[in-house]
Amino acid sequence: MILSASQLVESVQGKKRSAREVVQESLEAIERADAAVGAFLSVDADGALARASEVDESIARGENPGRLAGLPVALKDNLCTIRGTTTCASAALANFRSPYNAHVVDRLEADGAIIIGKTNLDEFAMGSSTENSGRFPTRNPWNLDCVPGGSSGGSAAAVASGMVPVALGSETGGSVRQPASLCGVVGLKPTYGRVSRYGLVAFASSLDQIGPFGRTAEDVALLLNSIAGYDSRDSTSVNTAVPDYTASLDRPLNGMRVGVPGEYFGDGLDAQVKVSVEAAIDVLGSHGVELVEVHLPHMQYAVACYYILASAEASSNLARFDGGHYGRRSAEPGDIMNLYASSRGEGFGSEVKRRIMLGTHALSSGYHEAYYLKALKVRTLIMRDFDRAFDRVDVIASPAAPTPAFPIGEKTDDPLAMYLSDTYTLPASLAGICAVSVPCGFSSDGLPIGLQLMGPAFGEERLLSVAHQYQQLTEHHTKWPSPATAA
Ligand code: GLN
Repeated sequence: MILSASQLVESVQGKKRSAREVVQESLEAIERADAAVGAFLSVDADGALARASEVDESIARGENPGRLAGLPVALKDNLCTIRGTTTCASAALANFRSPYNAHVVDRLEADGAIIIGKTNLDEFAMGSSTENSGRFPTRNPWNLDCVPGGSSGGSAAAVASGMVPVALGSETGGSVRQPASLCGVVGLKPTYGRVSRYGLVAFASSLDQIGPFGRTAEDVALLLNSIAGYDSRDSTSVNTAVPDYTASLDRPLNGMRVGVPGEYFGDGLDAQVKVSVEAAIDVLGSHGVELVEVHLPHMQYAVACYYILASAEASSNLARFDGGHYGRRSAEPGDIMNLYASSRGEGFGSEVKRRIMLGTHALSSGYHEAYYLKALKVRTLIMRDFDRAFDRVDVIASPAAPTPAFPIGEKTDDPLAMYLSDTYTLPASLAGICAVSVPCGFSSDGLPIGLQLMGPAFGEERLLSVAHQYQQLTEHHTKWPSPATAA
C-alpha cells in the first residue's frame, strides 16, 4: 500500500527509507500502470533519481532536507520546468523548453520534493475530459473506458492509481476539482492570488490558479504549505500571511455552519451523485455541524458567463503562439500573415480554435458590450451571491460534478454537453474563492463521486479542516481502483 505524502516524508526524514527508494517505487508504479492509464506525457527518471540522491546526501550530512523531503510530485504539463519540455499537450508547443521554472516548481524543490514527470491535460487546459489533449486521452483508473475528467486529468489519474502520492494541476473553471471528483481523490482550487502563477502557461488570467491533488486533505494541505505565498513576479499574488494548513486540520466540526444551496441540487444532477452528496452532508450534520439553507440565485448563469470570459481572455493570451514569438512555426511561412495563420492553424487543436473564435467574437466591436461586458456584470452578481451566503455560513457544500465519470467519446461531438460538466465548479472560479472536492461515495458502477466544499477568499484553512474531519469519519478515500490500474 502506498503511504500518504506525510508518512512518506516522515519516513525519509527519519531515515527509515531513502528518497531514492521512494522515487524508485514511484517510477516502478508508473511503469506498471501508465501504459493502461496514460497519465504522463513525460517522465524524468534520471532527473528524479539524481535529485533523490541529493536529498539523501543532505540527510546523511545532517542537514534539514526540507518539509517535503523525497516526496514524488507529478506536474501538469502547463507548468514550466527547465528540465524537459512544457507542451500544454499542444502541437504548438511540442518542443517548447522553458528557460525557467514555475514559481511552484522552485518552491517544491526548495522543500525537498522531487519532480517525477509531467502529466497529460486538455490542450492548453481547455476541456473537462482530457480528450482534447493533442497527444492521447488519459483514462480513468476506475474504469479505463471512462474519462478521468479534465483538464488536469493526467494529474488526477496519476494520484488515483497510486503512481504518485500528490500532484499539481491548474484550475480556470474546475480543472482540479472536477477530475478529482471523477477520479476519487482530493483536489483543491486555492483562492485567486494565493498561489503564484509565474510559469503557469496562461489560459484565462482573471481565473487561473494552481492547485494540489492528493488522496487526503492532509496531503493537499502539506503541498499547499509549500506552494502558497506572495511572489512579486505574479502581480495578482496576494501578500498575506500563509498559515500552516496542516496545523489546523484537527479543528473540531462542532459549531461550524455549512450552507446547502438548493440551486446545486436541481435539474441535471445525476440521482446517484445526489444521494452520495446528501449523505455526506448528513454525516457533517450528525457531527456537530449546523446545516443552513443558502441561495446562490445567479449560479444558473455561470456556464454562459464563464465561457464568454474565459474564451475572451484565452483569445488574447494565445495570440503569442504565432510561430514568430512563440510556438510551432509553419514550414511554409510565406508572408507574415500567412506565417501566423498557418502556424496557428497547424499548431492548435479544434477546441482551442473554437475558444479563440468564441472569445474573439465576444470581444469584437459591436459584440463587446452585449457579451463581454454583460458577462463581467454577471460575474459580479455571482460574487455577491457568495458574499451574502458567507455572511451566514463558514463553508458551502454541494456536488463537485453533475455526474460520475462518463465514457470516452460520449461528449466529444457536443461541446455544450461537455461545458455543462463544469456547472458546479464554475461559480467558485468566477467568484475567486477557494473550493475543494473530496471523495464521498461511488456510483453503482463503482465510479467515484465528489463532495465540493467552497469557502470564502483565503478560507483554505477552514475548508481543509472540514474536508479532513469528513475523511476521518468516512472511508471512501481508502478504496483503490482494481489491481490492473492501481500501481
Ligand atoms: N472545463 C473548463 C474549460 O474547459 C475548465 C478548464 C480549466 O479549469 N482549466 O474551460
